[in-house]
Amino acid sequence: MGKFDKYEGCGKVLVCPVCGDALQLGGPQVRSLVCSVGHSFDLAKQGYVNLYRGKPINEYTKESFQERQVILQRGMYAHLLEEICSFLRKTLESGMDSVEKKVLVDAGCGEGYYTREIAQQFDHLQLYGTDLSRDSIQLAAGTANGMGAGPAEIKWFVSDISKLPVADGSVDYVLDIFTSANYQEFQRVLGEEGYLIKIIPGEGHVKELREAAKDQLYHKEYKERKGAAVFAEQFELVEQKIVSRTFSVSPEERDIFIRMTPLLFAVDKSKIDWSTVTEITVEGELLIGKKKR
Ligand SMILES: [Zn+2]
Repeated sequence: MGKFDKYEGCGKVLVCPVCGDALQLGGPQVRSLVCSVGHSFDLAKQGYVNLYRGKPINEYTKESFQERQVILQRGMYAHLLEEICSFLRKTLESGMDSVEKKVLVDAGCGEGYYTREIAQQFDHLQLYGTDLSRDSIQLAAGTANGMGAGPAEIKWFVSDISKLPVADGSVDYVLDIFTSANYQEFQRVLGEEGYLIKIIPGEGHVKELREAAKDQLYHKEYKERKGAAVFAEQFELVEQKIVSRTFSVSPEERDIFIRMTPLLFAVDKSKIDWSTVTEITVEGELLIGKKKR
């Protein structure tokens, strides 16, 4: 399979960000996605396409990516992944007789951890991963290529989550994991039977770090209850669950968490004694919804 063959037939889902027409493989040497009007988007050699019309946003450094990989590969987010997979398995089994593969779009996929892992476990899904950060998508596509047939078929694209280059009603699952939501846009791209699968930080998320930093934190509790309430206003809630695990951590792993936790970005970390932190809880609240009728 050629690197770009995976984009064959992508026009049922991917549309031109300029005119909204379906995209298909084409252009010189078949290395682009083109619409019938003639707008053309080059496929990058790593196996992704940039469908974002603005200036590229590059927020991840190589170091932060590598640090996150350490945490992900240790499986500290695997309990959240498994919860998503068990929901997918449950709903996919009931639709096994359908000929068309169901479509999943990971909106705000970052470096693609969840999409890649899902690709390892499911054959019955067409997987798309998108993020505004071109660096992240590049890393996602690059990492995936080295990892066998399943993950190599993921169609990665750079785009603005608030204006997805995705056809109306063409998606069966939208994943929205630890990123901001654009509910209106998710409603538009989801089909009538589609699901939004969202994870927000749970109240107990990295509680050990918050405890150590409490003198400097203005809000001592995460105010994420609001997140669940907003979700329920937008979507018909079909599942809601706290998924939590506590891990013992090495000082190196602890320090990575300290650097990657947004809540601690404004904290003067040199004034805190982190040595008391030997465990870290990774907790998410899983919210799954269907479109309201
Ligand atoms: Zn076009």
